[in-house]
Amino acid sequence: MELSEIQRLVDANAECYSKKHGIPLSVDLLVLKLMEETGEFAEALTVSRNLCRAEKRVDAVTSQENLAAEIADVAVTVLHLASMLKIDLEAALEKKALAKGRAYLAERNAA
Ligand SMILES: [Mg+2]
Repeated sequence: MELSEIQRLVDANAECYSKKHGIPLSVDLLVLKLMEETGEFAEALTVSRNLCRAEKRVDAVTSQENLAAEIADVAVTVLHLASMLKIDLEAALEKKALAKGRAYLAERNAA
């Protein structure tokens, strides 16, 4: 699936959430949500490493599911934020990391 299609579906989900809960989406709210979701991911990671109180600990499968869910929340928020800011995320990723990654792999494979 292309990133633009993922972004389109994420935007549709955000619109559905906004309508369902009567919460207008804005860049300011999304930045706050990004901080919230990043914190939730950090908490899941803390739990997964058993760096938490005993009563918060969960089994390894649940821990991995929690980590996946929370990192997905972070990614979804970033994707929707990019849409609201009219940023072509694929182009930005290409410029920031993909071209360099591709060049590194080509060099590594040639060695
Ligand atoms: Mg979350």
